[in-house]
Amino acid sequence: AGTSEKLMRFLESGIYRFESSKAVFIDPVRVLNRSYSRFKVSPSAYYSRFFDTHGSRAGVSSNTRKRKRKEKQAATALNERELAADRRHQEVRAFLLKAHESLRGANELLSVMPSLRSGEDAPAKNIETWEPQQSLIELGRLWQASMFEITLNFPSSEEQTTGYQRILPVFGNLVVNDMDDDVEAEFLNSQYIIPRESHFYISDLKHIKNLVPDGGDCGFHLIVVDPPWENGSAHQKMRYPTLPNRYFLSIPIKQLAHREGALVALWVTNREKLRTFVEKEMFPSWGVRHVATFHWLKVKADGSLIGDIDLFHHRPYESLLLGYCSRKSGDSEKLSIDRAIPDNQVILSIPGDYSRKPPVQDLVLEFIPGLKPPRCVELFAREMRAGWHSWGNEPLYFQESRYFQPP
Ligand code: SAM
Repeated sequence: AGTSEKLMRFLESGIYRFESSKAVFIDPVRVLNRSYSRFKVSPSAYYSRFFDTHGSRAGVSSNTRKRKRKEKQAATALNERELAADRRHQEVRAFLLKAHESLRGANELLSVMPSLRSGEDAPAKNIETWEPQQSLIELGRLWQASMFEITLNFPSSEEQTTGYQRILPVFGNLVVNDMDDDVEAEFLNSQYIIPRESHFYISDLKHIKNLVPDGGDCGFHLIVVDPPWENGSAHQKMRYPTLPNRYFLSIPIKQLAHREGALVALWVTNREKLRTFVEKEMFPSWGVRHVATFHWLKVKADGSLIGDIDLFHHRPYESLLLGYCSRKSGDSEKLSIDRAIPDNQVILSIPGDYSRKPPVQDLVLEFIPGLKPPRCVELFAREMRAGWHSWGNEPLYFQESRYFQPP
């Protein structure tokens, strides 16, 4: 038996929909590749910590056992917040397990998962020996920041038979690749790959107002937000700075929304305190009406979960809260949307780098208000997409050429 049509479609698009549940498996590398014409995302660089099963075959390490023992001891004394968190977890647990069951029954998909990292990469890059990356966050804080420039090397095209350069301020400036092709860019000692028709704006949260469009049709129909939530993990502090929750209240979501309305997709962790804050304070102050929640269930290359589903502080899933926002108050119920968003949809994927989220645009496309194609923006982005605006203090992070295979 050859490859089924469904698997063929997955190998093309990076998206595999299970019929038996409201779940999808995605290969972010394939999804991201649709943003590029000549370059390809390097699978071995994307899956830098591919969760294969060497060592702990059953997926239960001694660490996990230790943690479990600790949790058992703690289980007798759950406080109110922990009880609320547990209730929330119990509500989604069934959806997560059903989704995981679908994956475990999809033999053809399981058979290709272990090779998602190898792709056509040759030879496999040794990520452990990579030089540390140039820190955009640190450079952006220097007093000289406003003087740093990036060089975009536009290739030749049908209209423009010779290539040309554009040199632009890199910080606090909207940099655009308005071409229908990938553009290579140079900034200090690094090379970056900029997808077609994309924009980036690097700044601190203090200056996010500069991203607000001047009016007309320039707002956004999809606003993806992945804030640098504080979570007390020392591990995290080394990767990027975090901010107290109250800082996020002033993000001008309403002003960023298109006049046809916007779908807001917010990544949250499982901390109950955070969930309460978002529902009671942040969404109300942003003018967002919460309508559904999706869950990202993290799996290893062999299809098993990256951790025990019931581990209290280390759940193998994170959630994506979806809501509508309208520029006029109280108007978000009147937006023109084809279909209501089904609640509790599960997205399965093998995680990439620390805190890197899977691309979700394809999964929410039919729920975005307004005319197609939608105008999309990602806040606190570390990567770019064709047609999108990416804002944050390091939106070029995963655009560095080390994350790509040359054409
Ligand atoms: N969604 C991203 C991905 O998939 O790779 C991860 C985003 S990460 C959770 C949060 C980002 O916010 C980090 O890149 C961090 O540097 C950035 N950030 C932290 N403090 C910031 C600030 N004051 N202004 C702008 N961005 C900030």
